Amino acid sequence: MSNTEVKSAVMSTYSRFPITVVKGKGSHVWDEAGRTYLDYTSGIATCNLGHVPDTVQEKLNKQLDLIWHCSNLYHNPNQEALAELLAENSALDKVFFCNSGAEANEAAIKLAKKYAKDKGNPERIEIVTFLDSFHGRTGSAMAATAQAKIHEGFSPITPGFRYLPYNDCDSLEQINNGKTTAVLLELVQGEGGVHPVNPSWLKQLEAVCKENDILLMIDEIQTGIGRTGSLFAYQQYDVDPDVITLAKGLASGFPIGAMLAKDNVSNSFTPGTHGSTFGGNPLATSAGLATLEVILSEPIMVNVIENSNWLFSELNRLMEYEKQIKEIRGVGFLIGIEIAGDVAEWITKFRNKGILVLAAGPKTIRILPPLTTTKEELETFVNTFQALLNETGEYTA
Ligand SMILES: *Cc1c(COP(=O)(O)O)cnc(C)c1O
Repeated sequence: MSNTEVKSAVMSTYSRFPITVVKGKGSHVWDEAGRTYLDYTSGIATCNLGHVPDTVQEKLNKQLDLIWHCSNLYHNPNQEALAELLAENSALDKVFFCNSGAEANEAAIKLAKKYAKDKGNPERIEIVTFLDSFHGRTGSAMAATAQAKIHEGFSPITPGFRYLPYNDCDSLEQINNGKTTAVLLELVQGEGGVHPVNPSWLKQLEAVCKENDILLMIDEIQTGIGRTGSLFAYQQYDVDPDVITLAKGLASGFPIGAMLAKDNVSNSFTPGTHGSTFGGNPLATSAGLATLEVILSEPIMVNVIENSNWLFSELNRLMEYEKQIKEIRGVGFLIGIEIAGDVAEWITKFRNKGILVLAAGPKTIRILPPLTTTKEELETFVNTFQALLNETGEYTA
């Protein structure tokens, strides 16, 4: 059933796949009819510890008995503890909590503007973002997203953004035009097709930012929380961001967002400048605390690196003789398989074999296994892919 055939009171902002998911545990979800699927979307990079992980469930259950909501007019111990854990394990100092990725980027965008004013540079009103980026769907986050298809129909688009090509050394000289206060970028463009950053371009970009007091803001909403094999992707590139944004994987599927900044930047957010009713909610931050404690204390990220290396070598092995596979890209467990033929059809074929995968752009299958996935599950994925490739035969496209 396509969305138009279903009589539903839910707005049709998504074209949904024809399954109704009612339960999840570990790497699997179950549909209404009791069918099991291997979930290699992880709820789009959100359930990084798999669905309903025991330790997070226990902590949430305890919190349910204590208090569900506490306004930000009072101190909240979970917020304090989660902020401290994030600060301790990153190069950032202070945390603002919100409820989603778009909101985390909105906070970063506001902070960058305020920072310029506070530094006596009111003419610095622009933020540079990069073609094929994705930063969210709200007003400014959508404007930051440099994809025409995301803007279509929503003019006037919020001003103050300038778009440059990603990984392009030639346009680095255009970063600073005297009006730039920040750059905002992903280190693996997730929605835009799984394109990893070029490390030497990133270093040059960082140098331009540092020379000109332009904030380096990294959107880690998809790459963060162990997804790439380190807690944050930036830690693999020898860069020192001024701001990072988090959401998706931070609380194992409980809604949360966070914007982290260096002290000298976060000082611009004084009382009254920004806020959120639900931001840092006791339930969300308890889920975040439990999630981070697991990711930091168990060999989860080591497993990601080992299993990712194995998976890349298997996929490259398939690519050697399967002309349908055009390119394998990604870092850790954020992997794009560029493929001949219609990606939507590939997603359906995988689903019919009991595996959920995603698209990233028109040509790329995106897989986001839970960080906790087992070798057996990975083998199931590879064997299923191989069987599907054999069934499809060779494209000449
Ligand atoms: C998903 C995503 C967002 C938006 O997050 P929401 O929680 O959907 O608002 C922003 N940036 C990146 C890189 C993302 O992957």
